[in-house]
Amino acid sequence: MISIRVHETGGPDRLVVEEVPVPAPAHGEVRFAVEAAGVNFIDTYQRSGLYPVKLPHVPGSEAAGVVTAVGEGVTDFCAGDRVASARVSGAYAAEAVSPAAHTVHVPEAVSLQTAAALMLQGMTAHYLACDTFPLKPGDSALIHAGAGGVGLLLIQIAKMRGARVIATVGTDEKATLARQAGADAVCVYTREDFAKAVSAFTTGRGVDVVYDSVGQSTFEGSLASLRPRGMFVTFGNSSGPVPAFAPLILSQKGSLYMTRPTLAHYTLTAGETRSRADDLFAWVMLAALKVRIGATYTLGKAADAHRALEGRATAGKILLLPKR
Ligand code: NDP
Repeated sequence: MISIRVHETGGPDRLVVEEVPVPAPAHGEVRFAVEAAGVNFIDTYQRSGLYPVKLPHVPGSEAAGVVTAVGEGVTDFCAGDRVASARVSGAYAAEAVSPAAHTVHVPEAVSLQTAAALMLQGMTAHYLACDTFPLKPGDSALIHAGAGGVGLLLIQIAKMRGARVIATVGTDEKATLARQAGADAVCVYTREDFAKAVSAFTTGRGVDVVYDSVGQSTFEGSLASLRPRGMFVTFGNSSGPVPAFAPLILSQKGSLYMTRPTLAHYTLTAGETRSRADDLFAWVMLAALKVRIGATYTLGKAADAHRALEGRATAGKILLLPKR
């Protein structure tokens, strides 16, 4: 079957197309034909070497497709089932395997492309808004990269929970998308000081929570945007990792709380994975949550997809379609 592999870490050109054997599902695993694989920022960190992986590496942890085989001990799935997962081993391929415990059935009313788009970024937006800092009506939130894959979903979920949202984006086009997703205010942080915009949005008080996926370039402004005892949720490094700092800064900026969460710890059990996926599918079916597929690429163009994501040229979800 066709697959993308990385033999040496580095730039997007390290994503090479190869013929490899179809993986055999191990005990407790499901194998499926990939209809759509999600492209996520973590795939670029693993390709570049920022997050170490064993080589050769097949990128991609998010996909949806149709089951072709199940491993021993799997009773919940059978060939022909429509499934999705954010724990795929090697999603950038014609077929891939995933642990059954963290694979979900996709309702007939939800397309496999939408399901692929929801697994990693949707479940991330879900845990951030519902658990890391459980937003309640009247809370105020700053959401960076508001037109991104996570960003557009997080704005919508934050609004569903009754929060007031200010989002940051890189361009005017992205500002329109963030507003359409429900943001009450949008700051184009490539030309405006977002901490000042937050101060105006909250009449000087500061927001209750900052959801920061941008990392290095927004770190200082994010701390300055919080109210005393506010929560700094740093969950990504799109502009590079946050540099080392002394904890004293959290005291100086207002006795702030800080957490650095990751999806695996918010989908610890099969039940937790299913319950987040069930919520997301239900919201999509009720048209309460809209999934924007920003662009699709063939598997052979995976390097272009990485260039676009790292070059800030994308909005919403980027998918690879191995069958195209
Ligand atoms: P996005 O679609 O949000 O793409 C990244 C965006 O970040 C860009 O479009 C850009 O938006 C913004 N950005 C700001 N500065 C830079 C820069 N210097 N280089 C590149 N992009 C920049 O990606 P994802 O939705 O896939 O992921 C968003 C972030 O969330 C990533 O950092 C990812 O690692 C993290 N993440 C963390 C998870 C967790 O559980 N901890 C799970 C999932 C994702 P703009 O032009 O508007 O500034």
